[in-house]
Amino acid sequence: MLKNDVGSIADDPKSMSKEELDKALEKVPKRPVMLIADDVEMNRVLLSQFFQDKYDILEASDGREAIALIEENDVNILIVDLVMPVMDGYEVLKVLRRRSIDIPVIVMTARNDGESEARAMEMGAADFITKPYNPTVVQCRVRNVMARVENEWQKLEQVAKDQQIVEMHATIERDALTGLYNREAFYQRTADMIRDHSDIKFCIIYLDISCFKAINDLFRVETGNLILRTSAYYFLATIDLETSLAARIEADHFVICMPEEQLNIERLIEGLDNTILSLGISHNILFYAGVYPVEETALPVDQMCDRAHMALNKIKGNYMNRYAYYDASMRDQMLQEQMIVRDMNFALQEHQFTIFLQPVYSLVSNHIVSAEALVRWFHPVNGMISPGKFIPVFERNGFIVKLDRFVWEEVCKFLKRQRESGQKLIPVSVNVSRMNFYNLDLLEFLLNLIERYELEPWMLKLEITESAYTDNPHQLTSVIKVFREEGFPVLMDDFGSGYSSLNMLKNLPVDVLKIDMAFVRELEKSARARSILKSIMHLAFDLDMGVVVEGVETKAQVDFLASIGADDIQGYYFSKPLPVPDFIEKLRKDWDDSPENLESKAE
Ligand code: C2E
Ligand code: CA
Ligand code: CA
Repeated sequence: MLKNDVGSIADDPKSMSKEELDKALEKVPKRPVMLIADDVEMNRVLLSQFFQDKYDILEASDGREAIALIEENDVNILIVDLVMPVMDGYEVLKVLRRRSIDIPVIVMTARNDGESEARAMEMGAADFITKPYNPTVVQCRVRNVMARVENEWQKLEQVAKDQQIVEMHATIERDALTGLYNREAFYQRTADMIRDHSDIKFCIIYLDISCFKAINDLFRVETGNLILRTSAYYFLATIDLETSLAARIEADHFVICMPEEQLNIERLIEGLDNTILSLGISHNILFYAGVYPVEETALPVDQMCDRAHMALNKIKGNYMNRYAYYDASMRDQMLQEQMIVRDMNFALQEHQFTIFLQPVYSLVSNHIVSAEALVRWFHPVNGMISPGKFIPVFERNGFIVKLDRFVWEEVCKFLKRQRESGQKLIPVSVNVSRMNFYNLDLLEFLLNLIERYELEPWMLKLEITESAYTDNPHQLTSVIKVFREEGFPVLMDDFGSGYSSLNMLKNLPVDVLKIDMAFVRELEKSARARSILKSIMHLAFDLDMGVVVEGVETKAQVDFLASIGADDIQGYYFSKPLPVPDFIEKLRKDWDDSPENLESKAE
């Protein structure tokens, strides 16, 4: 094909292949090129002045030069004088036609000579202009002639632009790694699909791989990617693409929307397991799924996904259950969490939080020897909320740091009042959530409290939950050391609930172990639990640590604990956590009846 063959432009660009379109586009000039062929230089200068704004101008002084320039350049329009030496305008038209070079040509004639114009038009000229030039007429003729070509160019460019948008959409909508939809596209398309198929009941499935991070750490990143891609492939192969969508919405999290009647969740997970197993990666790669059957079709899709995710979170890390369905109680829980977060700051300001005190009894002395401060929330609308509900929320959002400090201060106020009114002074333990250790001024805050309320550090015992030690043992060990050097007794709370081994005890710098109540619950059922507790008692004795057993509810438990030498007991058997006035009363009675008191009264 010749360089200047613009014949292909006439094809419908919409039906062109990408290569054809690209090729045709190459022919569309940024600035079109005009060739002016005239032997009189003055004419060339005049014409180029009319057009140099819009065109790149080439000039030829005879027909042969013109043909040579056409062969070397992409010329878009030719203005040619009919009368020239060497090769005239007619000859030029002939050559162009013979070589099938399709450039619009405008011929110039010296005077209005009907015959030569007609001949030129017959030979393929698009129009003619007469000398002397009338600038307006000349420009109009050129514009008319070029209109057809420019129109084709515009069409080409439009089609190319449309194609680009389509391609861009495809990449914008897809996750590059797996080729599945990405989050945004999934939300959008799922909403459309649910709306367009009101006769179908859909469900959203949220899938997550257990320990995917470990896989990425253990193997190469490519292995993780392979798993993700294989899973994506499996999803696409299993679902009916007419009425189902699959997406990777982040890391190793996938979502599927499909008609509920087509879902067999057990088979889906089993198939997925087998597919991944066939990759031959020696690691337990398990998928977990949460399912939300779409009840409220008007719900935004991201919230539908949240619900499926909520269901998933219920079973995460549970090897027996691989999937769970969303139910309304999960939503209630979420709403309750939202209420907790919404109201917490105001509640603290308004003193809706108060402390209860639960006595710790000594089996040996038969007296209250200590207490634990436990927070309570009296909500004006929702009544008393138990810490089991709000503490985990506060631990997630950091508010626990403020609340703990409030509780410690309330305890200090209580101790100061006890001291000032000449009542029995016992140490009180407070819970120190792990979040506190991220604050550098923790020790300073505690020392300042003690000073402000004119107390001594031994009166405030610090309970730190066992699992905090496993989080970051080195940092915590050194912090605890400092507390103890300052004189604060440190207790390891919930001992036995986590992963601490008995061996680990040797390296722990705590004063007291607080045995978790789950352990106590086991005592009656399990001989093993009894013998483990016995060893703990021995070890603690050897290491010079105290032991408090909490959650003690029955006489049988008390008897067993006494038999293995346990002394300090906290639990419903003796007393529930009490409002401060009730606790004061109980404490007063307890020590009033004590033999020492009776002795001192007798004196
Ligand atoms: P914890 O520190 O292990 O507190 C002991 C929990 O066991 C308390 O529940 C207490 O009321 C309960 N309990 C005591 N004796 C018995 C018994 O014989 N049987 C049974 N079934 N339960 C008994 P509570 O007050 O609901 O507190 C739950 C958890 O909330 C606490 O567990 C602690 O982790 C957290 N918590 C409570 N107050 C605070 C606080 O001020 N700060 C922080 N950070 N956490 C707190
Ligand atoms: Ca505690
Ligand atoms: Ca505890």
